Amino acid sequence: MKIAVIGAGAAGLSAAYDLINYGHSVDVFESSYFVGGQASTIEVGGSPLERGYHHLFTTDYHIIELMNELSIKDSLVWYKSSVGTYSDGKLYKTTTPIDLMTLSLLPFMERIRLGFFTLSIKKIKDWNKLENITANEWLQNNLGGDAYSKLWEPLLRSKFGKYYDQIGMPWFWSKIQTRFASRKFFKGEVLGYPVGSFDTIFNKLTEYINRHNGKIFLEHQVKKIHPSIRQKFNLDINTKDGEITRTNYDYVLATVPSFEFPKLISLPKNYKKLLDSVKYLAAVVLILEIKEKLTDYYWLNIADTNLPFLGIIEHTNLINKDFYNGNTIVYITNYLDREDYVYSLDKNDLLDYYLPHLKMINNKFDKSWIRDFHYNSLSAAQPIITTGYSSRIPSHETPYEKLYLANTTQIYPEDRGTNYSIKIGRQIAKTINMNISLSSY
Ligand SMILES: Cc1cc2nc3c(=O)[nH]c(=O)nc-3n(C[C@H](O)[C@H](O)[C@H](O)COP(=O)(O)OP(=O)(O)OC[C@H]3O[C@@H](n4cnc5c(N)ncnc54)[C@H](O)[C@@H]3O)c2cc1C
Repeated sequence: MKIAVIGAGAAGLSAAYDLINYGHSVDVFESSYFVGGQASTIEVGGSPLERGYHHLFTTDYHIIELMNELSIKDSLVWYKSSVGTYSDGKLYKTTTPIDLMTLSLLPFMERIRLGFFTLSIKKIKDWNKLENITANEWLQNNLGGDAYSKLWEPLLRSKFGKYYDQIGMPWFWSKIQTRFASRKFFKGEVLGYPVGSFDTIFNKLTEYINRHNGKIFLEHQVKKIHPSIRQKFNLDINTKDGEITRTNYDYVLATVPSFEFPKLISLPKNYKKLLDSVKYLAAVVLILEIKEKLTDYYWLNIADTNLPFLGIIEHTNLINKDFYNGNTIVYITNYLDREDYVYSLDKNDLLDYYLPHLKMINNKFDKSWIRDFHYNSLSAAQPIITTGYSSRIPSHETPYEKLYLANTTQIYPEDRGTNYSIKIGRQIAKTINMNISLSSY
């Protein structure tokens, strides 16, 4: 069968890989000039580095399994991570449960309660019971006090902005589960990162697809999907040269965000309503190449809404800085509405906006430390998953037979991640192959 995959991110490439192995012919169309989507890289200090910070958890079995199949599992290295939290003008170490129990930000009894509270969430196995309550309400009711108001509430606010009190509790539950699974009680957290960046995975997939029965077309944006006779689809594709070409496919898998899909094909009201009901936050990310260390942490949560960003990820506190010409690599990250004015700031204005606040993180910080900096924005970075979502998830099977959708709004209850995009990409490939086999009987 002739199959089109729209999007060369984790979901699209892993689906294409499996479809080829099932014996089909696959064309992958990608509007950007690069593969990898949200997990793609730019060159920083002579090495590839993700546009937005990326790492893996020990429970990311699907991506690990794929790396194994591609014979690149050995390139996945596990590093000891360190987590800090900025609150009330200070940095606190919050890597291990022991750190939480000695956290001077909170009164003694609250620390003990926080430690037991976190362990109690870890013990919850059935997230279905948490479906109809927001994380904010649940934290207020079950934790409350300073631990809620000084730690979790500001974290929810900085991660989800005005949606902070709408996020379903399963999101919080799954975050705690994955982070805990990657942690050892005394030793703290370990996180995975491939030698050579996430490119190692995407380059291997690209090579495989292009060498077998597939082809990846970069800078080819799919503009329209037209249902045609005999349940086939014509795709209008805006090519690299600015021409619109039309090609016919038996099956189509779109891995585009939910707000893009209805622009490609007309959809019945009910399905479109499901797609529209999930809002996305965008992300803006500044990457600084600086000559000194900013903090001692890989991951710094900002639990202070006076600071205009939600996290600082000091990549070189995980990965050796020799890969980046000896510079410290710092991501400053923010999730926000696409209408937010910060989203419209250009690279230099965003840096100027953030600069005074970096001194609050490290008072020795000086602009002269910056050797270079890079800007990236991602329009569909984080879906907002509200309560009772299991009954509202848009299905992968669309109202058109043989047309499928896979994107991050269909990952639940886990938070979006490359691991889960690979999982759904591969699941859909299996479904398509099964349907093809059934239709040939
Ligand atoms: C800041 C940030 C940090 C993250 N950190 C981590 C992390 O630490 N670990 C982790 O595992 N995950 C992380 N993620 C999440 C992870 O990157 C995503 O969940 C995953 O990459 C999504 O893959 P995807 O294939 O579903 O979608 P995408 O990567 O969004 O791929 C979709 C592709 O479709 C293309 N496309 C869209 N429309 C068209 C069209 N009309 N025609 C052709 N092509 C089109 C896009 O250009 C894109 O390349 C992070 C995400 C962000 C934003």
